[in-house]
Amino acid sequence: MPTPTPTRAADVPKPPTSLVRRARKIDRVLAETYPDAKAELDFTNAFELLVVTVLSAQTTDKRVNAVSPTLFATYPDAAAMAAGDRTTLEEMLKPVGFFRAKTESLLKLSGALCERFGGEVPAKLDDLVTLPGVGRKTANVVLGNAFGVPGITVDTHFGRLVRRFGWTDETDPVKVEHAIGALFPKRDWTMLSHHLIWHGRRCCHARKPACGACPVARWCPAFGEGPTGYDEAAKLLRTEGRA
Ligand code: SF4
Repeated sequence: MPTPTPTRAADVPKPPTSLVRRARKIDRVLAETYPDAKAELDFTNAFELLVVTVLSAQTTDKRVNAVSPTLFATYPDAAAMAAGDRTTLEEMLKPVGFFRAKTESLLKLSGALCERFGGEVPAKLDDLVTLPGVGRKTANVVLGNAFGVPGITVDTHFGRLVRRFGWTDETDPVKVEHAIGALFPKRDWTMLSHHLIWHGRRCCHARKPACGACPVARWCPAFGEGPTGYDEAAKLLRTEGRA
């Protein structure tokens, strides 16, 4: 049974070897299962990734990907967005929901980038989390995928899966991040996040996981939370992420 985890990474006790081995085995199998795993939001640079990650709250990646080409053609960088017209931005963001709040967030975020970071996205966690609307999860997504700095993204899928796998009992995202960080070498953190998020979106669903068709079922203590027969489970599999 996993023990409670301190809030500082440096204080996390060394996890048992058996847990480390099982966790790494599961990740290897997921890597083979999802060789194309990556961020499902479209972006071409750190600014775009930061913006689309903020926009992806409470909506689907697909919806964000549908609005982002027009958004970045109009506002290609923080300076252009900070000087942008609120009504125009709101109109563009309508399809992603909460468009007034998200417009406000993007104007504040791009303004802060211009005022404090010369219009560039900073490549440090401590700086990123000082930006309006940017929490640790968003910061780690940007670090891992735009700057190649290893980061663990604790979203709803990641948290659910690591608890089902028995890797940790923690629910606090920072504690989860530290507990899982202790099980894997740093270089694996970003891809580990993608593997778990893809598995959560396609197979290990929150309400009815497809246990009978799950490639890591034999190492999962939560096997049986969903249907265990292959035929029934296979119907629950999704080939794509959030629609
Ligand atoms: S066996 Fe079931 S609960 Fe465990 S990872 Fe697979 S789908 Fe999720």
